[in-house]
Formats: sequence, structure tokens, C-alpha cells
Amino acid sequence: HGARDADASIRLTDSDAAIARLSAVQKGYIHDPYITHFVPRAHLQHPRPPLINVGTFVRGTAIDDLVDQWLVTVGRLGRQCQIVSMGAGSDTRFWRVATGTHKDALATYVEIDFPEITTKKAMAIRKSKELNGVLGTSPSDIRVNHGGTAIHAPKYHLLPADLRLPPATTLGNLLATSDGAGGSAILSPSLPTLLLFECVLVYMEPSSSDDVLRWFVEYFSPQETPLGALVYEMFGLGDSFGKVMVNNLKSRNVSLPGAEPYPTLETLPRRFLNTGFNGARALTLREIRRSCISAEELERLSTLEMLDEVEELDLVLEHYAVTWGLLAPAPGVQVSWGG
Ligand code: SAM
Repeated sequence: HGARDADASIRLTDSDAAIARLSAVQKGYIHDPYITHFVPRAHLQHPRPPLINVGTFVRGTAIDDLVDQWLVTVGRLGRQCQIVSMGAGSDTRFWRVATGTHKDALATYVEIDFPEITTKKAMAIRKSKELNGVLGTSPSDIRVNHGGTAIHAPKYHLLPADLRLPPATTLGNLLATSDGAGGSAILSPSLPTLLLFECVLVYMEPSSSDDVLRWFVEYFSPQETPLGALVYEMFGLGDSFGKVMVNNLKSRNVSLPGAEPYPTLETLPRRFLNTGFNGARALTLREIRRSCISAEELERLSTLEMLDEVEELDLVLEHYAVTWGLLAPAPGVQVSWGG
């Protein structure tokens, strides 16, 4: 039971993420018309503290920027791209990308999470016209599979998997066909692909995370096309503030086997360099807020809510980082990303 309870605690972190996002939407920090559909009615009025809202804003803005840059870059190459979100939870990015400025650059979007989470998400999608309308225009465009745990649509696939299991069997089988009957693979090995890991690797042993990254590197070799990956996570948890964060989670039965391998900003890029990527960078949310958010935006944020704890804000923001890696193809294709 211990392991099962521990997994249930990990899954609960998805509701936290969705509630935090909804809070930031309701307070005017970010725009996301889709998130309400994924938050249980009982939690629709759960405002989070200003500090959390600012964090949600900075993280969201940074990741939106990198994803947009990716779509623009592949668009310039005259290509469409695939996006795969691991531990996607209640994330709404697919709907935002599929209705956004760069929607034409999107070929396929795949979301993977535990079956309990994908079942909930599949139900929310089936219930909401606003959500399923983006997946397809006719009901036959949307197929529910694997006992309600999976959805297949022309550009969207929701798939159940435990990412800690050997990827060759789990990811390999799931991505092999979209109909389980010998149809074509969900992911084309020849399209530019972006992997997203938002708040998920920290719950896995580093060896499992590395296996997932290596599996994708292998899948897309011999790298005729760029492979990008982006990780958002807490780090530097050895100091007193970090220990408070870890103990908070521990008190909710959430353990963090993946919190230690890259304890500093300088070591974070190694996650990618060690698994076959050929370039990587990392920035803390603190640095991103300082140098990547415009003065106008910061000014706008300051009018939304009173934020007293400016020092505490920096302390929180410097324990979160966005790290992105690139596996650029052999000579011929120039790719720059996240400049
Ligand atoms: N990525 C989403 C976001 O940023 O809003 C959700 C983040 S939530 C904190 C972590 C998610 O990772 C949960 O939905 C959880 O179920 C999923 N997750 C954690 N470990 C996993 C595993 N071993 N396999 C599949 N999903 C996992």
C-alpha cells in the first residue's frame, strides 16, 4: 500500500498545479480560457497567495516563450513540429498552442501521465465543447481508447503511462500506433520534436529520467531533425529554504527521489548533456523575472495585488529553474533556440 499511497500523493500535485494556474488567471496575471474545465467545482474559488501567483506567472511566461520560439524556429525551417508533454496533468498548453498564433506549426501534441490522471482529463475533455471542439470538428475525429484512459484525435493524443517503467516497453508500445492495429506511429522520427517535463522529473529516480531522455534521443536518431527538451523543476534544496520546501512535500507523503542530481544552476544542463543532447542552458525564475520580463509587464503585475514579501519572492524564485536542451542535427540545419 505504501507505494500506491505515495503515487496517489504524487498525483495530487496535479490539482495543486491546476488550482495555482486558475488562481493566477482569476487575479489577472495570465490568460488561459481552458483551465477552469480541469479544476473541480469545489476548488474554483481558491485564490493562492500573491507570491505563488507571481511564480506561476514567471514560470508560465518563460515556458510559453520557449515553446513559441520553438514553433517559430521550426516554422522557419518550413516544418511542422511535435510536442510531447510528460506528466502533463491538467496542463492546457495543447489548447493554447492549437488555437494560438503558431498553430500551423503544430503537427502532433502528445500528453502522458498516470492512467488515473489521463482518465480524469479524458472525461473533462469529453464533457466540454470548448475543449473537444479544438480536438476535431466531427465526433469521429475523437477516439477514446484503452478503457477510457486514452484519447486519440488528429493532432492530439492523451496516453496513460508510468514514466518510471522501462521506456522501450511503455513509451515504445504507446507511441507505436494510434489505433493498436498496425496504424502509423504517433510520433514521426523525422519531425522536429519538443519534449516538455514540467514539475515531473523530481518525482522519479534520476536513472529513470535519464532513461526517458535517452529513449527519445535514440528514437529521433540519426538526428536529421532537431530535438528540443525543456525541464521545469525545483533545485538547490540543500539550503535551509530548500529544506523547508522538501519537508512541506514530505509532510504530504510526497517524496522527491529526483531532487538531488543537479543541485546547482551550473550543473542543471548536465541532465541533457549526459543523455545525448549537444547543448543546454538553465535559468532560475529569479533571473527570468529580472531579465526576461518587460518593465511594462512587471509594472502591470504590481497593480494586480499587494506583494509585501519581495525578499521572500526572490528566495522562492531562485529555487526553481527552467533548463532547456537541444540536439541539433548534423551540419546543414541551423537552429537557435532560447537566445
Ligand atoms: N506538468 C503539469 C503542470 O506543470 O501543470 C502537471 C505537474 S504535476 C506537479 C506532476 C504531474 O506528473 C502529475 O500529473 C503526476 O501524475 C505526473 N507524474 C508524476 N510521476 C509520474 C510518472 N512516474 N509517470 C507519469 N506521470 C507522472
